[in-house]
Amino acid sequence: MSDRTAEIVICGAGIAGVAAAYHLAVRHGVTGVVLVDERPPLSLTSDKSAECYRNWWPGPGDAMVAAMNRSIDLLEELARESGNVFRMNRRGYLFATADPERAAQFVRAAREAEALGAGPMRLHDRPGGDYTPSPAEGFQAQPVGTDVITDRSLIRRHFGWLADDTLALLHARRCGWFSGQQLGMYLLERARDKGVRLLEGRVERVETAGGRVSAVQVRGSAGMRTLATPRFVAAAGPLLRPVGRMLGVDVPVFSERHAKIAFDDVLGALPRDAPLTLWADPVRLPWSDEERAELAGSEHRRLLDEFPAGVHGRPEGTGDSRSVLLIWTYDVEPTEPTFPVTMDPTYPEIVIRGMSRMVPALRAYLSRLPRSFVDGGYYTKTRENRFLSGPLPVGGAYVIGALSGYGLMSSNTAADLLARHITGAPLPPYAPAFQLDRYDDPAYQALLENWGDSGQL
Ligand SMILES: Cc1cc2nc3c(=O)[nH]c(=O)nc-3n(C[C@H](O)[C@H](O)[C@H](O)COP(=O)(O)OP(=O)(O)OC[C@H]3O[C@@H](n4cnc5c(N)ncnc54)[C@H](O)[C@@H]3O)c2cc1C
Repeated sequence: MSDRTAEIVICGAGIAGVAAAYHLAVRHGVTGVVLVDERPPLSLTSDKSAECYRNWWPGPGDAMVAAMNRSIDLLEELARESGNVFRMNRRGYLFATADPERAAQFVRAAREAEALGAGPMRLHDRPGGDYTPSPAEGFQAQPVGTDVITDRSLIRRHFGWLADDTLALLHARRCGWFSGQQLGMYLLERARDKGVRLLEGRVERVETAGGRVSAVQVRGSAGMRTLATPRFVAAAGPLLRPVGRMLGVDVPVFSERHAKIAFDDVLGALPRDAPLTLWADPVRLPWSDEERAELAGSEHRRLLDEFPAGVHGRPEGTGDSRSVLLIWTYDVEPTEPTFPVTMDPTYPEIVIRGMSRMVPALRAYLSRLPRSFVDGGYYTKTRENRFLSGPLPVGGAYVIGALSGYGLMSSNTAADLLARHITGAPLPPYAPAFQLDRYDDPAYQALLENWGDSGQL
């Protein structure tokens, strides 16, 4: 294979492109894969993630749970074969509420999750139940499914650091986090061992002949280079739309800006062995009367409004690390991706105040906020928040993208699907749910009109 030709050109070396290269080259033995990126691998969005994973997803249908179970199977396989180089854990997602109605909803949601294939529900509604907390490290031999705890004494015994008025907890178990960078580098190294070439440059044009991909033009430091290729994969993350346009395809995605903060929890407000913990109720930020009066007359008066449910956080790092990550996806305004990403300067304060509703020990930071590191990127998503993996309506062109706020956890299932589409290997039953042509189906269009929960946290 000369450096002027390729069997497959993948545009984008974020986690989507890297996982695609890995699945094609390592699992399907495809040769001649070239991975093109104008930036260092994994550096645009894939290093901004909170690195969490879950098989806790809503319907309609079981496609999302089935796809995510497959992704987690693949992640566990990779963790086992690599000696867990990417430090995958199984601490779970812990949703907490102080609202009696939501407590009842937890039970319904856990039953629904069971029906969708996320694993059995276990209800702990009396003292001394058989709830077992997750270990801090490791991912093997752990329960799946969901524990719902409504007994207050059990809540206090295991999670005494949560707000006193916490009425119920939902602990989704096939969930946790890992190092996304380590996972990405492991996949990339394995792919390169199998001959995948990494090419630095910007894809500027995709040429077609007779309605099929024929070549890709890449601008690099040495000028423009043309790679003759019969296949092109758009894995361009937040830049998926412009790359789609190179093929004359309007990929139906949009982007939201999202950020996380990290700070040193010197007071130990969040236990180091905590799961990813989410407050399931809307929140009014805590302010003193003086602050409230001042805000009411200022441009920041929105900070007195109710914020949506979902503030969440987790401890980060091992050993002596005191770092804590917090996220709150309250701003879901679609926006045109621009780089570098600009952040709302009030975000860290909003998130710490919001999180203190659930973890009261964080209030000790409110009089003097800790210095926090803010980092973020875009959730690029489809309308119903289900990713795209499969063919585009141009011969030889494919997409893997719209991985939204769950691209680290889903990259393996998305790449597994993509590689199957390209090589003609058998597809699992959930494959059509992630193809672009799902939008051509009138029944699917009708479903979209009444979709409901998109699963975004
Ligand atoms: C704050 C935040 C928290 C998140 N938390 C989680 C989480 O807990 N769990 C989880 O699973 N996911 C999470 N995500 C989502 C996850 O980070 C993304 O879904 C994922 O990184 C998207 O990967 P990607 O490869 O599609 O895009 P990217 O990582 O953006 O990669 C796209 C690549 O394409 C390249 N590219 C684009 N156009 C061209 C071109 N014309 N020529 C050459 N190269 C090009 C870009 O340079 C870039 O490197 C989070 C995201 C954010 C922002």
